[in-house]
Amino acid sequence: MSNKTLTIVQLYPQDMNIYGDWGNTLALARRAKAHGYTPEIIDYNPSDTFPENPDIILGGGGQDSGQSIIQEDLHAIAPKLKELAENGTPMLVICGLYQLFGQEFRTNQGETLQGIGIFDAITVGGEERLIGNIVEESEEFGTLIGYENHSGITTLSDGTRPLATVTKGEGNNTTDSTEGARKYNVIGTYLHGSLLPKNPAVADFLIAEAAKKKYGEFIPQTIDDTTIDRARESAMNRPR
Ligand code: GLN
Repeated sequence: MSNKTLTIVQLYPQDMNIYGDWGNTLALARRAKAHGYTPEIIDYNPSDTFPENPDIILGGGGQDSGQSIIQEDLHAIAPKLKELAENGTPMLVICGLYQLFGQEFRTNQGETLQGIGIFDAITVGGEERLIGNIVEESEEFGTLIGYENHSGITTLSDGTRPLATVTKGEGNNTTDSTEGARKYNVIGTYLHGSLLPKNPAVADFLIAEAAKKKYGEFIPQTIDDTTIDRARESAMNRPR
């Protein structure tokens, strides 16, 4: 076992973990091992003590009700999360937590959930759910593949960088083909699925940034991705 550890913190797995989002944590831990690191996984739920030195932060999606449950706690740890984000800690937040990493989420029940403002984006609950397989192109990560299921319609502010441009599916909204958001080493996205097993470029980014920050360098190992490539090919060709 390598003595180089990477601490992965999973935010709110009790309330924010749907469509296999916890699979991201498993995939990341496996991939970190394959690159020569020892992963430590910490689940963080409301009112837990926030871990001292997280190296990577992951968070999943949830129902509007799950977002409501964790909102107060999320605001309590927001200063810490913002400081970590500004200092380059890699983070991946999916769907419900992506929405709450924006400025606000107005639900279709008329509730406004304040976000923590890492992304300059606003989400409004719509009448229609955007559901189905999604494929998109990202300059940083190439083709990304996943599954979306949300009623929230997200609009990025002018200066906010999307993660990708959608080629199949909807993404942030039904009008501008953008999907997700990028800032510092933080990735926000609607892609469930789980995302990381199907998109190892994103997993490698999170591991590389964490390793560079903690150990000053990242030396990637050669990993045989033949099975992943086949799974990607098949997922990419599924009907919407
Ligand atoms: N409740 C949010 C929406 O429907 C988030 C859903 C999710 O995380 N999948 O927009």
